Amino acid sequence: MRVIVIGGGMFGASAAYQLARSGAEVSIIDHVHPGKATMAGAGIVCPWATKIDDPEWYEMYAAGGRFYDQLVAMLAEDGETEFGYRKVGALVTSSDAAELRSAGERIARRVGTAPEAGDVRLLTPKEAQGMFPVLREGLEAYFIPGGARVDARLLSAAMVRAAVKHGAQYRNDYVTLELANGRVRCRDGRGQHLEADEVVVAAGAWASQILEPLGITHPVKPQKGQIIHLRLAGVATAQWPVLLPMTSHYMLTFDDSRVVVGATREDDSGFDYRVTAAGQAEVLAAGMEIAPGLVNAEIIETRIGFRPAGPTTKPIFGRIPGIEGLSVGNGLGAGGISIGPFAGKLLADIVSGRTPEMPVAAYAP
Ligand code: FAD
Repeated sequence: MRVIVIGGGMFGASAAYQLARSGAEVSIIDHVHPGKATMAGAGIVCPWATKIDDPEWYEMYAAGGRFYDQLVAMLAEDGETEFGYRKVGALVTSSDAAELRSAGERIARRVGTAPEAGDVRLLTPKEAQGMFPVLREGLEAYFIPGGARVDARLLSAAMVRAAVKHGAQYRNDYVTLELANGRVRCRDGRGQHLEADEVVVAAGAWASQILEPLGITHPVKPQKGQIIHLRLAGVATAQWPVLLPMTSHYMLTFDDSRVVVGATREDDSGFDYRVTAAGQAEVLAAGMEIAPGLVNAEIIETRIGFRPAGPTTKPIFGRIPGIEGLSVGNGLGAGGISIGPFAGKLLADIVSGRTPEMPVAAYAP
């Protein structure tokens, strides 16, 4: 079976990797638009604290987090081990005592069926600061040992490389789709027709554009996120936990004294690939409010990503009815680094005609 996967972000890289592993002849074609979400994503994988309570979405989010252990083992078999994945744990905190209590109850309920989260415990402000030294004083926090972070740029590249080891081809190009006798047909940037039995559209926030010529109104839009990378020179940040203050902002660290503070959520942004004064101000203010120890940190860069945001938080994947050979993997929204690898595997099963390991009807396009 020849499969073209359009998009090499979290969804496309994973679907392509799983398809290639199972013996399909895969071509990954990625334009790498400025604002590719996977290039900007923070990298938090900690499903148990979220306030969003859509059960179908949460099931996928939790399964996505759980899948990481399997993915790490699978990639290790293919010689890929360097993608910044570490179970550093997560600190869930709030300056509002009632909110912290309700977060604690929610986490306790969820980790009851998720042993991979580890033994959650409430830390004193001093203990919390001991783990995350720039944290504001006086904040209690729940510590979730199984919380993790990953470098999504490196992970998606590792999945693509592993797919190539299994025979996939990768190319940087912009493709378009058209209909021919009820079947999807793909053309490359020079207008050349590309032969395939199956086409998988994993085109992130650009999916609606590529599907439009097929007469499909796809409900996914870009939601812009501006996210700031800081450096705390000389500080060993590698083991700091992810910090979730129960607002739309958060913090995580990487090995190179890097502290990442996220992020704006700008609906109706279009593809406005600019760092704005308001975006910087919002993220820095939120970061320094929860972690005043960052005031002297150096600003390294601001990344911009367009989250593929659907009408609900649920991802959208599966075959497009009425058009032969066409599938879509999309709508990952703000949780795609957590969900994408697992959803990509489910989609690979659907495209290959295998039964996915969990019910997927709720996510059908
Ligand atoms: P993308 O990564 O955008 O990839 C789509 C690709 O398709 C692009 O490279 C594009 O160029 C390509 N493409 C489109 N059209 C064409 C075409 N016609 N031809 C060829 N190629 C095409 N999730 C988490 O779980 N945890 C987090 O901590 C987290 N933090 C985030 C922080 C920010 C600031 C942002 C923006 C997102 C964050 N996310 C997080 C969400 C996550 O990053 C996204 O949901 C995920 O990366 C989306 O992956 P994707 O493959 O669907 O899309």
